[in-house]
Amino acid sequence: MPTGELLPAAGRVRTVLGDAPSIDLGRVNYHEHLFQASPLLPGDDLNDETLSGAELGRLAESGFECMVDATPVGLGRRPDALARVSAASGVRVIATTGRHRDAHYPEQQWILDASADEWAAITLRELTVGQALDDTAYGRLPLDDVATAQAPDGADVRAGMLKAAIDYWAISRGERAALEGVAASHAATGAPIMVHTESCSAALEVITLLESYGVRPARVVIAHADRTPDPHLHAEIAATGASVGYDGAGRLRLWPDAVLIDSLAALVESGHADRVLLGADVARASRYESYGGMPGLAYLGRRFVPRLQQRLGDRVVQGILVDNPGRFLEWQN
Ligand SMILES: [Zn+2]
Repeated sequence: MPTGELLPAAGRVRTVLGDAPSIDLGRVNYHEHLFQASPLLPGDDLNDETLSGAELGRLAESGFECMVDATPVGLGRRPDALARVSAASGVRVIATTGRHRDAHYPEQQWILDASADEWAAITLRELTVGQALDDTAYGRLPLDDVATAQAPDGADVRAGMLKAAIDYWAISRGERAALEGVAASHAATGAPIMVHTESCSAALEVITLLESYGVRPARVVIAHADRTPDPHLHAEIAATGASVGYDGAGRLRLWPDAVLIDSLAALVESGHADRVLLGADVARASRYESYGGMPGLAYLGRRFVPRLQQRLGDRVVQGILVDNPGRFLEWQN
């Protein structure tokens, strides 16, 4: 049964346990995954409710009160479990609807083929009615027959964020359809939009494409912007009004965290502190402490955030962790 308002009231965000005032969120990690399975990450599925719940507890201990689970349709989402681990931990969780890039879906032809209208319908239903209990049902059943996931209190679990994705300097026909569908769903709801990029390539181009579909850049975050730690490029993105997603801490094979902190500091010094969102997108069982790996979801709060505070001061970091995501996650066109 649909429960609560169709859209969150002004100043509120939509979590898996209902709508909440954006000013109450506390520190928000804008990009992680509690449940995920992809052929691109073999052996790294996040699929154990007890272990994912334990990792969420570690995130809380590291100083976060809220997180976005950024797993889109067809990649091992578990909205019912998401609601349970959120309720058990007291950490607010915002769920995602939309589509990843083609490479994640070699065996899900319906996702590769889905049109803009189909993405608009699926994502609008997930934002306003409920998320699918089983994503594969979308490929088999009419939309109205797809069963929704329930929270412990019996309410439908609804998404609070839209997502689309592009490839490395490339946007396929199916990825473009998802962008157009997500834009339509955004127009109807005001829900925020995350765009996955490969190394921040085509970020400005995808912002322009979304603008052509009627989306204001201020309602978009470019995920993985820091995979190209170029403060000049990030300032160009921020100047459009879009948010710049820093979510690459701890990837030491690529570069030391110092590179990301320098890049972030330069972006802040160029006047764009209000356009930064921070997460870590750890996303693999082998990197989760509860699954027996390292460094875990707590790495960001334990190791990266203190360095950022030392460099930028508490007030700027408070803006990045609390004020920016609170504002971004509200629903408004
Ligand atoms: Zn991610």
